[in-house]
Amino acid sequence: MVLGFPGRYTDVEAQARRIVVISTGGTIASRWQGTGFAADAPGREVLATAAIPQDITSEVIDLFNVNSPRLTSAQQLTLLRTVHQVLADPGVDGIVVTHGTDTLEESAFLLDLYHDDPRPVVFTGAQKPLGAEDGDGPGNLYDALLTAATVRDLGVLVVFDGKVHAARGTVKTQTLAADAFADPSGPPVGKVGFGKISILRRPQRPAPLPLPPADVTLPRIDMVMHHVDADPLFVETAVAAGAQGIVLVATGAGNATPEFVGAVTAAIERGVLVALTTRVQGGPVTEIYTHGGAVDLAAAGAVLTGTLRAGQGRSAVLAALLSASGVGERVSALRHVVGSAGLERGEAAAA
Ligand code: ASP
Repeated sequence: MVLGFPGRYTDVEAQARRIVVISTGGTIASRWQGTGFAADAPGREVLATAAIPQDITSEVIDLFNVNSPRLTSAQQLTLLRTVHQVLADPGVDGIVVTHGTDTLEESAFLLDLYHDDPRPVVFTGAQKPLGAEDGDGPGNLYDALLTAATVRDLGVLVVFDGKVHAARGTVKTQTLAADAFADPSGPPVGKVGFGKISILRRPQRPAPLPLPPADVTLPRIDMVMHHVDADPLFVETAVAAGAQGIVLVATGAGNATPEFVGAVTAAIERGVLVALTTRVQGGPVTEIYTHGGAVDLAAAGAVLTGTLRAGQGRSAVLAALLSASGVGERVSALRHVVGSAGLERGEAAAA
């Protein structure tokens, strides 16, 4: 049993456990292809690189073998359904997902929004390819297996370089370094090392969503970034291309220009769900500025995503669009999945 006390690490003991590893590709499964590295190795080969913690048995599902920048929402939903199918077996004690690091934060967060089980789903990967002499994959996999076998009631987690992160808010912060993930707005959930897991805090998670229907049609969701001289034409183009959701990656605490406010207003009038995030690394988006700032974008109907960054903002929009069909319901669903990240660290912070 895990007991998390705010501000203090609590040690958790591992027990005999059966863990299912779902392999999806990424650098942890990558080999040299003659011109560069690409995902290649099946899950059993990836698992064979790692020591397996004592009293843990593992089995592998080879789901995909892709570099994660190529991943699609359809594949993410397949991963989501596979996780739920695996957890339908009460004999399974936890899941590890090996995943490319580039879009790991998007898949982990999407799955967390639907996760309704005390048993954990632990994402991990590597910055160095399969078989690298100084590779980080084997250690990350060992730590992920140990974490999956040990913790309960923490939702979907990311285990990387000795840290245990909540899926929500965690992003890739390093292109090459082993310590690749962090939540720039908050502390990790815990740490793992020397065969031991220590839990520092329990992540805040909104009530899980029901799984999307099997025959769901996937919506187009685009991202537009603001910058000096940015042209709101890209918002209009996204709408013209059929986007049902747009993530506006604004500057600062969520600011753009009056021209962007005009384009966002027109998009929302056409039923598009607009989420507002920022290109800044840490801290919430919040309503401070007018003349094109978050005050005006929120008044136009954009939903502030708190401390969620662009990729996870997009996952939130995807989940909101899949969970409701009416415009008002979709806005409510997006506010729900943004949850306390928006209400406590973002919107309320402005009050
Ligand atoms: N490009 C790789 C991927 O995301 C990077 C990695 O796995 O670390 O698949």
